[in-house]
Amino acid sequence: MDSAPTSGGLLDTHGRIATDLRVSLTDRCNLRCEYCMPAEGLQWMASDITLTDDEVVRLVGIGVERLGVRQVRFTGGEPLLRRGLVDIVGRVARLRPRPRIAMTTNALGLSRSAAALAAAGLDRINISLDSVRHDTFSTVTRRDRLDDVLAGLRAADRAGLHPVKVNAVLLRGLNDAEAPELLRWCIDHGFRLRIIEQMPLDAQHGWDRSTMVTAAETLDRLSQHFTLTPATEPRGSAPAELFLVDGGPATVGIIASVTRPFCGDCDRVRLTADGQVRNCLFARQESDLRTALRAGADDAEIAQRWRVAMWGKRPGHGIDDERFLQPARPMSSIGG
Ligand code: SAM
Repeated sequence: MDSAPTSGGLLDTHGRIATDLRVSLTDRCNLRCEYCMPAEGLQWMASDITLTDDEVVRLVGIGVERLGVRQVRFTGGEPLLRRGLVDIVGRVARLRPRPRIAMTTNALGLSRSAAALAAAGLDRINISLDSVRHDTFSTVTRRDRLDDVLAGLRAADRAGLHPVKVNAVLLRGLNDAEAPELLRWCIDHGFRLRIIEQMPLDAQHGWDRSTMVTAAETLDRLSQHFTLTPATEPRGSAPAELFLVDGGPATVGIIASVTRPFCGDCDRVRLTADGQVRNCLFARQESDLRTALRAGADDAEIAQRWRVAMWGKRPGHGIDDERFLQPARPMSSIGG
């Protein structure tokens, strides 16, 4: 294999270029979603290996200024638990060229910070919501916090973080039958629902291909209540396949990461809260930028380490391959 380029952006040997950086700001979370984390939580990352705000901004700056990153999405764990979040967003918004800034969140506490985040430069938001029924929400997330999430959604809307997207994961026998109700609710409130297939990234390794709710099943179920037609606009590198609902303009997105993977168009790269670059959600190797950064490496050296990390990105995640091995890090620590 040729060696990685020594200038320019984040290319890999399959011709893909990563421009979308997902930054995990913490591995901690205040929900315990069934498909993500065990009820008792996890052993959280030690604070001395967690990047400081300055380190996060420096690495994102190298991505934007030297490596062609055009979109930065803050995630976690739960990014709203990061104390310096508004300041980090503000500093990233001052980078040039100005990246688009997005966040994926469970929205707990967002009602207090949405306006400040928007003023600091947050452009868009994805809010995770698997049910609008109190009992189902509490069962899936193991916390009785639906009202806080709904308040967060309203605050995001008021703060102009449009389009407000809602991410849902369906679990068989738990909330899958509620998919039509969730879509109706999102349409009525002006939110864009996207349904994500459950992936083998849970800390407790409970994922089972034979019981996961497939995109095909979800489309079947929704089609009993709505007329869905594939949207005609080009999908590009977007993970969601978009469908017009009852002729539009409302849409629903289906993210079929397992049954209809979109790795060939992937433009994403991930930075964990402890400063490791991952070239794929399912990568089994990481590249340590934190140690280099703390050892005094300059921006050019860090950028080159990052290019090398991306160069070896595999063509696909291989979930359907018999030899597939779930990565050691769970989704909450990688950054979803
Ligand atoms: N705490 C934030 C939140 O709730 O959005 C950000 C992190 S969370 C890991 C990001 C997204 O990943 C959420 O929409 C969540 O539903 C999704 N997610 C978590 N585990 C998943 C899994 N095993 N398969 C598919 N999606 C998952």
